[in-house]
Amino acid sequence: MTEIVRAYSKVGQKQITCKKATSLIGAYVQANLSSQISCLFEEHLRVCPDCVAFLNTYKKTLGLAKSFLAADASAESLARIRNRIIEWRDRPKTI
Ligand SMILES: [Zn+2]
Repeated sequence: MTEIVRAYSKVGQKQITCKKATSLIGAYVQANLSSQISCLFEEHLRVCPDCVAFLNTYKKTLGLAKSFLAADASAESLARIRNRIIEWRDRPKTI
């Protein structure tokens, strides 16, 4: 059981925030979440277009990165890529 899953089971939360959804996205895409956490995540996606957009971007980028990295799609590389996407998403908006 991962740290994340433990944290959620402990609190027994019904809903997750965008920040938490973002932190779960990597595990979700790689099907590493328990069905319970997966459900919470998908529930959040139903009410949050921002996170849906983020998930789509993540999947697209991951696909590109995987073909680019080929043999080197290590967990570390993927975590780095995820962090870059998060940085991009949370970048200061200059409007
Ligand atoms: Zn969200």
